Amino acid sequence: MIVMKFGGTSVGSAREILRVAELVGKEKRKKVVVVSAMSGVTDKLDKAAKKVVNLPAEVVEKEVDAFHKEILHQHVSAIKEAITDKGIAEEVIAGVTLLTHSLKFALIGIGYLEDLSPKSLDYIHSFGERMSVLIVAGALRSKGMDAKPLTGYEAGIVTNSCFGCARPLFKRLDNTVKTSLNPLLDKGIVPVVTGYIAADEDGRITTLGRGGSDYSASLIGRYLGVKEVQIWTDVDGILTTDPRTVPSARLIDVISYMEAMDLAYFGAKVIHSKMIEPAMDADIPVRILNTFNPGCKGTLVVKEQKQIEGIVKALSIAKNVSIINMKGVGLAETPNIAATVFNLLGDANINIIMISAASEANLSFVVKKTDVQNALNVLNSELLEGCIRSMEVIDDACIIAVVGAGMRGTKGIAAKIFQTAADEGVNLIMIAQGSSEVNISFMVKENVGDKIIKALHKRFIENNNLK
Ligand code: ADP
Ligand code: ASP
Ligand code: MG
Repeated sequence: MIVMKFGGTSVGSAREILRVAELVGKEKRKKVVVVSAMSGVTDKLDKAAKKVVNLPAEVVEKEVDAFHKEILHQHVSAIKEAITDKGIAEEVIAGVTLLTHSLKFALIGIGYLEDLSPKSLDYIHSFGERMSVLIVAGALRSKGMDAKPLTGYEAGIVTNSCFGCARPLFKRLDNTVKTSLNPLLDKGIVPVVTGYIAADEDGRITTLGRGGSDYSASLIGRYLGVKEVQIWTDVDGILTTDPRTVPSARLIDVISYMEAMDLAYFGAKVIHSKMIEPAMDADIPVRILNTFNPGCKGTLVVKEQKQIEGIVKALSIAKNVSIINMKGVGLAETPNIAATVFNLLGDANINIIMISAASEANLSFVVKKTDVQNALNVLNSELLEGCIRSMEVIDDACIIAVVGAGMRGTKGIAAKIFQTAADEGVNLIMIAQGSSEVNISFMVKENVGDKIIKALHKRFIENNNLK
């Protein structure tokens, strides 16, 4: 049994959905299909909700009406072309129409109440995947397969109530995923499950964080105990860096869980960083494949770390992050201050991406740009009063991560990496203190990020020059 996950571009239009149906049809093993929203739809939903909440009441309905028409049209056009069986197409059009009505009413509510909570935003975001599973399941049925659309919750993914970035209740999933999906699989039905969205214990819709469909796929794979989790996307696999920055980036045949996790964590969006852990826990191989070039063998992500394939295996860049610099002699005089800071941030659900080498009177760490305001608010707490003299935010920096299992035990590699930055005239703002065994990461100004990636790629990957 396997899981096949198709991302946004893989279900971006009727032509792609037909291609997906063909790929699923060719797969003879039992399978669960996981799909994202059609390309760009989650962004559109997000924008619409954030726009409507700020509109004057008298224009809310007009604005929502226009948006409703656009979304309905996009999906209905795809259905008409991707689902050849007229009866099935009509059924799916009815389902999608019903969903867009609920979406419309929810948006009008947000507009009139001028209130967009994380819970409401998750609800709005969920429509993208809820529509795409109807279409993909319809396309499979139209090709003669028995398929059933399901939400992540119906497939057994139950989470806590942390809207926007919900955490699966792992112990529950051990039972719920199997009991939800096995009866269908036993009857030869292909479950087509929404990626990204789940629900809390009260059945309220939650999401796993943007790009989270990969995570849904690996959770389902883990708790069903599948042979392989396949991530079908729009590139041949994991490449030595983002091909949008370096077009000559090369395909990596095999990479370890740890290396893939670090690459994804530091910005390689080809897979979601959280997706690795469930697969790693159960030692399930993850295969990244190209929907548009299915003949390519892709990248296999496994436990073993192959050190021979070049010391530096890949590079990634994480943008949209900010550094918070805390200063004050009080920091040195107060025991356990770092723990207090990190606890305050943790309680506010703010993820610390990187921590720098801190002097006694200085503590620096990196968070997502979208978390900065929230972080500053919680750090102004009484607990820290008197300890901090100033808090500075640097929000035009990015993280560069150099990944490769072979770097461990290779003498002077960090010096060579930093020399490359110096040769490019690039200043290092911060170097990670607790880099994992398989990566070296540092921060530079965002406007020189791509330049440094190109230089590192040329030196360590294209020319394989460690001198
Ligand atoms: P999907 O919609 O299928 O989930 P994403 O857009 O989330 O796809 O991820 C695929 C994209 O990831 C690629 O188009 C590519 O630009 C980007 N990417 C970033 N880093 C890498 C990398 N190291 N290897 C391959 N792709 C990468
Ligand atoms: N549709 C969601 C997003 O755009 C989830 C995903 O594509 O993985 O973030
Ligand atoms: Mg993705």
